[in-house]
Amino acid sequence: MRSLFIDRTIVKGYNENVYTEDGKLDIWSKSNYQVFQKVTDHATTALLHYQLPQMPDVVVRSFMTWLRSYIKLFQAPCQRCGKFLQDGLPPTWRDFRTLEAFHDTCRQ
Ligand SMILES: [Zn+2]
Repeated sequence: MRSLFIDRTIVKGYNENVYTEDGKLDIWSKSNYQVFQKVTDHATTALLHYQLPQMPDVVVRSFMTWLRSYIKLFQAPCQRCGKFLQDGLPPTWRDFRTLEAFHDTCRQ
């Protein structure tokens, strides 16, 4: 692999359409759910964080490991406030190093 650049990750719910009306993969539209819009925004930040132009395989592995931590999106309490929901949303932020879950407003 000479070069690889992930420039976009859009996270959607299982029940959401990932194809456009003419059957093409829809890589532009955001999720209808606020929780997945948040995760999409965080994934964009994570991609910028994990960029290592000389080691694309490390980038992919690091980013996928980070993204996989969302498997417990609705089951992990916030590591700061200890709550599952804040303003109706689960902890949508994952620490880049520890992968711990935080609410967007609890991560600073
Ligand atoms: Zn919190």
